[in-house]
Amino acid sequence: MVGIPELNAVVTQKDELTPRLMILRVEPDGWEPPSFEAGQYVLLGLPPTVKRCVLSVEEETLPRPDHLLRRAYSIASSSLNGEYMDFYIRLVSTGALTPRLFALGVGDRLWMSGNPKGLFTLADVPPDRDVILVATGTGLAPYMSMLGAYLECGGSRRILVLHGATHSWDLGYRSELEALQHLCSNFSYIPTIDRPDDEPVQWHGRTGRVQQLWQSGDIDEAWGRTPSPEDTDVFLCGVPGMIDDMVAVLTTESFIEHTRTVPGQIHVERF
Ligand SMILES: Cc1cc2nc3c(=O)[nH]c(=O)nc-3n(C[C@H](O)[C@H](O)[C@H](O)COP(=O)(O)OP(=O)(O)OC[C@H]3O[C@@H](n4cnc5c(N)ncnc54)[C@H](O)[C@@H]3O)c2cc1C
Repeated sequence: MVGIPELNAVVTQKDELTPRLMILRVEPDGWEPPSFEAGQYVLLGLPPTVKRCVLSVEEETLPRPDHLLRRAYSIASSSLNGEYMDFYIRLVSTGALTPRLFALGVGDRLWMSGNPKGLFTLADVPPDRDVILVATGTGLAPYMSMLGAYLECGGSRRILVLHGATHSWDLGYRSELEALQHLCSNFSYIPTIDRPDDEPVQWHGRTGRVQQLWQSGDIDEAWGRTPSPEDTDVFLCGVPGMIDDMVAVLTTESFIEHTRTVPGQIHVERF
């Protein structure tokens, strides 16, 4: 975007889960938060003049001062919430925008687009189909919004969240998801980490990448049956490597990737 638009939103809460992982709550200033479908994203932006956080790497080339830095972020808060929007963001130390977003504090201003976008939603999935939501890292964000809007605790639709991260402390929203699993018989949560040797206290949960867990039969065990394209839609969100691997595995199990023209049971969002 050429020219810096008015910074139209304010940070009202900043929850730093680790120095490199945060949940940022943003409220539009003087305008109504736009309605959206759970799973959609908006753009967040800052002028390049905003200072970078201390953990970031210095930029080799300075961004143009008259351009707003803007990137897409999935909305993590429920689409039923009309006051604010939460974003689950990871610091990319060499990046242009995240080091500046991490330097923001409560009360600081930023720019937010007013038109949420994206087709990575449950809107077209019939309510009698079960859903498996697979994420790496901050790819969990759209699922937190979907759970807020769609999880009917004790209802007939089953929902499973499979979340992969490097370390246990990178598993954001873990306590909320564990509580939901405890309270809702139709909801399952499977976290997995891929560097258990780094844990200061022994990790008793699953280890390995999400795609390995799918193949090992862990999902079948938690689900109580093997997920089938006949009754289940699978959502994939996060790093491209996981998505490519999962699509390859699911395709061998007769799942089809959903596109604008071909309806299928695999839904993909690449960060
Ligand atoms: C639809 C959509 C939704 C998204 N939602 C989220 C979200 O909810 N939370 C979130 O944290 N991010 C999300 N992203 C990613 C986000 O848009 C930015 O790309 C990311 O925050 C990095 O921005 P940056 O300006 O700091 O880095 P950039 O300046 O864009 O990138 C600098 C370098 O880092 C690499 N890089 C970019 N992203 C990553 C990464 N995640 N890990 C490792 N290297 C990276 C780039 O390839 C580049 O080489 C989403 C992306 C899309 C397309």
